[in-house]
Amino acid sequence: MPELPEVETVRRGLEPVMEGARFEAVEARRRDLRWPLPKDFAARLQGQTVTGLGRRAKYLLADLSSGEVLLMHLGMSGSFRVVRDGSGHAPGKYDRERAQHLAHDHVVFRMSNGALVTFNDPRRFGSMKLIAREKLDQEPLLRALGPEPLGNEFDAAMLARACKGKKTSLKAALSDQRVVAGLGNIYVCEALHRARLSPKRRASTIASRSGAPNERAERLVDAIKAVLKDAIKAGGSSLRDHKQTNGELGLFQHNFRVYDRDGKHCPTAGCTGTIRRIVQTGRSTFFCPVCQR
Ligand SMILES: [Zn+2]
Repeated sequence: MPELPEVETVRRGLEPVMEGARFEAVEARRRDLRWPLPKDFAARLQGQTVTGLGRRAKYLLADLSSGEVLLMHLGMSGSFRVVRDGSGHAPGKYDRERAQHLAHDHVVFRMSNGALVTFNDPRRFGSMKLIAREKLDQEPLLRALGPEPLGNEFDAAMLARACKGKKTSLKAALSDQRVVAGLGNIYVCEALHRARLSPKRRASTIASRSGAPNERAERLVDAIKAVLKDAIKAGGSSLRDHKQTNGELGLFQHNFRVYDRDGKHCPTAGCTGTIRRIVQTGRSTFFCPVCQR
């Protein structure tokens, strides 16, 4: 399932073909993805210019000249494919094999610059929604989201406040989209390892009783920002390198320190630990029991 860096990579891949371009034709091949597509979906997009393509957590937000915003979510298996001047590339594609089944091409945008942008989603957990810009604050999908981890407002004080008094594990707290938006299993594991904090540690231990941040909170925020930036950078470079050849993301997986590496040596300098896998709230957690305390 794509997390923040993958969605940001997709955004960067779509930006040059969508921003400033008009929807010349919109083809919705089904009436529903995870939810029904908006009423008059194609008609409301056709002729509109994309004035900006942004991201909030794992949602892509295309601002339209009509005053509406097209909100798009990749779900579990969604991907976009861009064909321009006859050559195709996929910005941040996750499942190349399945995504190449044309039967799963559900929505096709023909942009005024000649680009064809196709949304493919075999499992159909993805979604598209049209929302009036002035009602975006009230949108239930976005309203409950916590801060953007790469935003300036997300700092140790903010994370400590959110974790104050929390009896759940740090792993569970960081996976909670209300605490911080866009992190999933992979980047939570990776950030905790970089911060040398155990995923089993109580979330409240990064804050004082009054909710002030301690040194662990500082370390954790630095680690979260660093791991996301590195992953976006890796995704961005894979995008550039493979632009003309139907490229896919995935370079960053070679940089995983703990995720999916149980039984391997811990990569922390000087640590003799072995990466372990445990299950927390139904999901695998990978960590080093020696250097993560
Ligand atoms: Zn270690």
